Amino acid sequence: MNNIPNSILALLEKRKTNNSFRKLKTDFPEIDFCSNDYLGFSKLETTKNVIEDLNKSQLSIKNRQSKSGSTGSRLISGNSVFIEQVEKEIANFHSAESALIFNSGYDANVGLLSSVPQKNDLILFDELSHASIYDGIRLSYAKHFKFKHNDTNSLKDLLQRHVANYENIYVVVESIYSMDGDAAPLKEIVDLLHQFTNCFLIVDEAHALGIFGEKGKGLCNELNLENVFFARIYTYGKALGAHGAAVVGSNHLRNYLINFARSFIYTTALPKSSIESIQRGYQLLSGEVNMQLLKNNIAYFTTNCKNINGLIASNSAIQSIILGNNNDVDEIENKLAEQHIYAKAIKSPTVKAGTERIRICLHAFNTYKEIDLLINTLQKHG
Ligand code: PLP
Repeated sequence: MNNIPNSILALLEKRKTNNSFRKLKTDFPEIDFCSNDYLGFSKLETTKNVIEDLNKSQLSIKNRQSKSGSTGSRLISGNSVFIEQVEKEIANFHSAESALIFNSGYDANVGLLSSVPQKNDLILFDELSHASIYDGIRLSYAKHFKFKHNDTNSLKDLLQRHVANYENIYVVVESIYSMDGDAAPLKEIVDLLHQFTNCFLIVDEAHALGIFGEKGKGLCNELNLENVFFARIYTYGKALGAHGAAVVGSNHLRNYLINFARSFIYTTALPKSSIESIQRGYQLLSGEVNMQLLKNNIAYFTTNCKNINGLIASNSAIQSIILGNNNDVDEIENKLAEQHIYAKAIKSPTVKAGTERIRICLHAFNTYKEIDLLINTLQKHG
């Protein structure tokens, strides 16, 4: 495996030669005739004085710093020293050269997968990949095939059949699958891909961040595999309790996404408050938060959930029980609700017909008493 495809470097070079290479700026001139903050609302701290000044068109330069909205896309007026500092902190935390924040995990996957793989490339991806991975792949010009869920032989078979016919092959997995809660066989996949120089590995760590690895750094960290990935996606709407996502990888990858990922380029950047929430989430992971509480609850659930048919083996926070049709999952959701428990019925077509399930997400704040009630209710009605 290599770190960056030559085709990506060539496209970046071409942009530089044409003087069309996009770069993020943080040093904006003071007088704004650029941002989309048409009414100046992003500057308001809800203090009456500022509103009065705004109405009289007397907002001083000092008061024109954005307090809420980011005022534009990252390449126009929405970038800041603060966002770039947080991106450096993210890269550091995940032992990568760089990180680039997207507005959501959906945007990150769509932006990455629609822009990086080219016409002569191939994408191989797990059949249980998240919708955002499917949608990104659908927008790409590359050819794609899916392999059977967590089946390294199925991936190997596709690789052997196609490796010689494509310039680059991107293999896309989730470290923890969002619906089944099981882990990808990352070590086996890495070992397999080491045989091929034109393969690049992409992993979505949405459900591993905050749960696996040292200080919740993710499953790649736990397995000591962080450096082998071309790109890792960390999303902040889950364990971090915030919003947004980052693609983590090389500096070349970051430059490439800034230049070509349309879901990064053509959208208003996250506001400062969102970036602060992301930073705070990472600070909590790095600091005093007791990561063991969630692990204990996962262990408590998995050791006590005997006689529940259809439970998918998982040591993540996601525990799914396959019931196999939309009516049964609705019924169990209602039975749980009668006990004041909210666990979600996931129906087809969100999941494949026949795999409809109750999806349980365990948290650090759940008590053993609550988990007992959950298990008892499932055992009674399952
Ligand atoms: N990737 C995976 C594996 C997910 O489960 C999700 C969310 O459900 C996403 C990406 C999308 O993340 P976001 O909610 O930040 O758009």
